Amino acid sequence: MRRKFILFGATGSIGDSTLDILRQHIDDFELVGFTYHTNEAKARRIATEFGVNHTYSTSSPDTQKSFETLFHLDFDFALIAIVGAAGITATYECAKRGKTILLANKESLVIAGDVINAECRKSGAKILPVDSEHSSLWRLLSPTAKESLALDSIRCAYLTASGGPLLQVAGDAFENAPKESVLNHPTWVMGQKITVDSAGLVNKALEVIEAHFLFGLPYEKIQAVIHPQSYVHAMVEYSDGTLSQHVSQPDMRYPIAYAMYYPKNPKVSVPLKNPNSYPALEFFPVDEKKFRAYALGRTAGIKGKYYPTVFNAANEVAVESYLKGNIRFGEIADTLEYALAAPYSAFDINSIDGLLKYDSAAREIARRRTHQV
Ligand code: NAD
Ligand code: MG
Repeated sequence: MRRKFILFGATGSIGDSTLDILRQHIDDFELVGFTYHTNEAKARRIATEFGVNHTYSTSSPDTQKSFETLFHLDFDFALIAIVGAAGITATYECAKRGKTILLANKESLVIAGDVINAECRKSGAKILPVDSEHSSLWRLLSPTAKESLALDSIRCAYLTASGGPLLQVAGDAFENAPKESVLNHPTWVMGQKITVDSAGLVNKALEVIEAHFLFGLPYEKIQAVIHPQSYVHAMVEYSDGTLSQHVSQPDMRYPIAYAMYYPKNPKVSVPLKNPNSYPALEFFPVDEKKFRAYALGRTAGIKGKYYPTVFNAANEVAVESYLKGNIRFGEIADTLEYALAAPYSAFDINSIDGLLKYDSAAREIARRRTHQV
């Protein structure tokens, strides 16, 4: 029996990796519907190759109706590969409907982790991580811990960060890093937004928050560590001080296939490579003075309430502004600091609507700071 799925955001980098797994294992999976934003030509190619009848553009005005049609289809899981806050609708609607959610879109949990988790508890929806670090953590935590995390047995969960293209760049050169350097990631091929996020370790801050909501770990038990080779994706340190690491080549097809096949064992989707040929593996602490956007995001997570939502929204505006050439790289962190320090009206943090009001307010503030209004 082929497992049927819907792919939200089929035309991006995660979409490409997912479709490659589908191509390799067409007897195991069937794509019954997908969304894309503006890339009509690519969407048409995907629909033709995989024989998909239900394809919808999220840039059209009747997205809500398209989503309703997709949710009426018979499917086993939905993979959310939309980038940014735009992914929250798909995640939230799946959570409300008790669906199995394969979550690449980390921003959903950053914006509304508590609300989405509460909906999942009510409806029976399950979230399976697709982000590589979280997929590795998921594998490392013992089967009992997966159900109800045996917190006492976990001293710390480590998420690795390559350090991105600016790891060896400091001072003014870091603050003024040009687009060509920032978009030139040394170990991962990804969409533009997450690539910029990786250069300043904003991505790692988002992932710390994501890990908190996925595994119910307190922030003091979630740390980031620089690991330039990107072969170790996560580590768990147990109560006796021993550690387990999860190691693979840096290729998103591993975590995606793991979630797609779960609870079965995943099949090979990445060409095998002898571990003898792996590079030497190094680990360093994160320099929070240099990567101040990381420190700001981590603090936003710890403060909770609307702070992670504001952090995410301001970052999306700042990244867009940086990519347009309106601000310097270092001003992304300045914008985050500014938006996090701003006063906000009181909205309901226990509802998506309330959190999206914080999202809008933070965007407005960030737009002013980045000279976009
Ligand atoms: P991408 O930019 O390559 O693709 C984004 C997808 O989202 C595209 O299909 C696009 O059509 C769609 N999209 C863009 N704007 C939209 C909007 N306003 N409304 C609806 N859809 C929209 O991004 P990506 O690198 O594939 O990343 C997707 C998500 O997965 C992000 O949240 C990212 O953080 C996460 N992620 C990516 C990687 C990776 O290796 N690329 C790894 C881990 C997590
Ligand atoms: Mg990741």
